[in-house]
Amino acid sequence: MKIICIGRNYKQHILELENKIPEDIIFFLKPETAIPQKNQPFFIPDFSNEIHHEIEIVIKINKTGKHIQKKFSHKYYDMLTLGVDFTARDVQKKLKKESQPWEKAKAFDGSAPIGRFIHKSDFHNICDINFKLMINQRLRQTGNIKDMIFSIDEIISYVSKYITLKKGDLIFTGTPSGVSKVEKNDLLEAYLEDQKVLDIRVK
Ligand code: MG
Repeated sequence: MKIICIGRNYKQHILELENKIPEDIIFFLKPETAIPQKNQPFFIPDFSNEIHHEIEIVIKINKTGKHIQKKFSHKYYDMLTLGVDFTARDVQKKLKKESQPWEKAKAFDGSAPIGRFIHKSDFHNICDINFKLMINQRLRQTGNIKDMIFSIDEIISYVSKYITLKKGDLIFTGTPSGVSKVEKNDLLEAYLEDQKVLDIRVK
């Protein structure tokens, strides 16, 4: 199983980090060990003083596919949830400056908690889904799937040109604006429409 993450997929988030709007889809990988053990809190790693939350819609691939045409992408996933792409922003800034890969900032243990999956058919419109992240019961990030620069169908098609997708693979589809630092004892709660799918404590 692999975790593929899309970078820079919402305009407002690109602007808040002063990045350029990409011409092409940007993706990177996290290993299986980025998913925390069941019911584990998120432990702030000792190599960072600036861990950011990035709430993202996550899809689960349901069959093997390579060179998937966009018009068939919808057949390759049927469940979605929310996940947090925890990012060591201080480490990432340094890596970006040195033109190095992002793994140290993005792929560390526990950096990809994911919520409870919901079937596509449970949503009125798969192209119009609101989501939000509350921290300590305060609203911190909101997004809607329709504001993605690259749609889920485009992402599946694009990524499968480079990497064979297999059943059980996860794709994090990028974060909307509002990313910021987490602190010890924060409680993160994520909602897809009105359904809470994830809660995680920071330690
Ligand atoms: Mg992200």
